[in-house]
Amino acid sequence: MKKFVCDRMLGKLATWLRISGYDTVYIGDLNLNNKNKEDTFILRSFRDRVVLTRDRELFRRCLQEGREVIFVKSDVVLEQLRELEEKGIEFKIVMDRCSVCNGLLRKPTEEEISRVLKREGISEDLKERYELWYCERCDKLYWMGGHWKNMVKFLERVKSESKSEN
Ligand SMILES: [Zn+2]
Repeated sequence: MKKFVCDRMLGKLATWLRISGYDTVYIGDLNLNNKNKEDTFILRSFRDRVVLTRDRELFRRCLQEGREVIFVKSDVVLEQLRELEEKGIEFKIVMDRCSVCNGLLRKPTEEEISRVLKREGISEDLKERYELWYCERCDKLYWMGGHWKNMVKFLERVKSESKSEN
């Protein structure tokens, strides 16, 4: 499975790649706070990852260095997903990976469920209604609730519009 590093302009795309199970570094998470530093860091590091960028200069430098790189044309997330699907990168909700930190998700223990639900002020009966996943790094629970339904609808739009054009 391909691994990615996304430039600062592609934070939402990075989230979608993680939701789809791809190991994805978002350069904005690293707090380098300087675009030149970020570009140089991307070029020097993450050599096992495909670079995704909206920046023509970074794209050009990646090609020069022999890096695998994709130039993302659109600044609209839905269009970005379609661009990558056309390149064979599949988007689907797999609940393998935390969309916030890129950590792997696992089944929570009873203690983790109780503690996180109490902290978030969510009723304990959530665990009877939904299957739960847990990110150790963020101490966060995931479940297929309303937010998940919105994501499913969004992906349906990505896929239906790309089909209608063909
Ligand atoms: Zn996390």
